[in-house]
Amino acid sequence: MPWTPILLNRNLRRTWGSRRGQPQSASGTRMTAKAEDLLTPQIDGHTKLSVPSFSFLVEHPSGRTVVFDLGLRKDFDSLPPAVQAFLKDCGWKLEVTKNVSDILEDGGIPLSGIEAVIWSHHHFDHVGDMTAFPRTADLVVGPSFKEHYMPAWPTDPGSTLDESAWDGRNVREISFDEDCPKIGSFDAFDYFGDGSYYILHCPGHTFGHIAALARVTVSSSDSAEDTFVLMGGDTCHFAGQFRPTRYKPLPREVEPSPLQRVYPDACPGALFRAMHPTRSASTPFYEMPRSCAVDVEAAHQSIRYLQQFDAAVNVLVVIAHDESLLGEIDFFPDSINQWKANGCGEKARWQFLRCFRTNSSALHLKKSYSFHFKGKAEFYSGDKDTGLY
Ligand SMILES: [Zn+2]
Repeated sequence: MPWTPILLNRNLRRTWGSRRGQPQSASGTRMTAKAEDLLTPQIDGHTKLSVPSFSFLVEHPSGRTVVFDLGLRKDFDSLPPAVQAFLKDCGWKLEVTKNVSDILEDGGIPLSGIEAVIWSHHHFDHVGDMTAFPRTADLVVGPSFKEHYMPAWPTDPGSTLDESAWDGRNVREISFDEDCPKIGSFDAFDYFGDGSYYILHCPGHTFGHIAALARVTVSSSDSAEDTFVLMGGDTCHFAGQFRPTRYKPLPREVEPSPLQRVYPDACPGALFRAMHPTRSASTPFYEMPRSCAVDVEAAHQSIRYLQQFDAAVNVLVVIAHDESLLGEIDFFPDSINQWKANGCGEKARWQFLRCFRTNSSALHLKKSYSFHFKGKAEFYSGDKDTGLY
């Protein structure tokens, strides 16, 4: 399908922010979960995920504005009983300092100007507090949402969704029929009708889970390409579930180094291959566990489709809980549109490997082997190891 180029000038913004080294910013969400709840198989030393939950403000040049996902609501004590029971049972820790609606208003974005909130899916860490948005804002959801998730709490006492989210509000369910356009391998819906913003169908984690693809710059020459940001929601929960791939294998030298205190410039890829369940440089570290998906085969297929986008040099893939992007890319009130020009996409690509810093295999390998490093063999004696992993 031909795409209509459209200049998206300061159109895409992120609504969560933190600088590296400051895991809890003045605003936003932080959830700490057990890795085994979200990732399989288990990798020695990687037991916890401490993650944000990203939202996006999308501004079209016409003035039309939508928000993709709302993160977690601040007053999570008022979440439906089923969510509270789940949280008590799983032992996840939550910190929320501001609702996305607060962040927007503090940033000078009136909620009355937002035409729709798009939920990637119905989980509590994405739906925020919809009641803060005027009823003029539609709620946009994926296919079969109404069938599977409505009615909700309190009409359905066991539901994890609060149905006040759509009280008096238009709920718009996106459908993807046989004739719908394909963007990459995903079924797509052209939201603004001009090729600037596509809703993508990527089911598996939940029924009707959706992602979105925004065209954030338009090339003015034939030699350059338009650039995009793919808002992945919970297509998967960790960058190591879709990286590395045969398209973008783990490099022999990872730059910038995810372990800068030990390897200031570049870090041997072999360190991380040693932790990979199959020692592969071209398949992801993790899969989505069956327990995390309503249809795990569909989830794996959605992840394979996501990998195709991640292989493209002009697409930045941002899944909702990618902690490794904090401090690497621009956040609201700055725009993310220039991610390619400022090089942050490639710099951020392998930063998720930081999570393996406590892995005992890495320590063992580092103490025991030589690597070709910056063109010469160096032996790391282990004298720099103390306390760094
Ligand atoms: Zn989530």
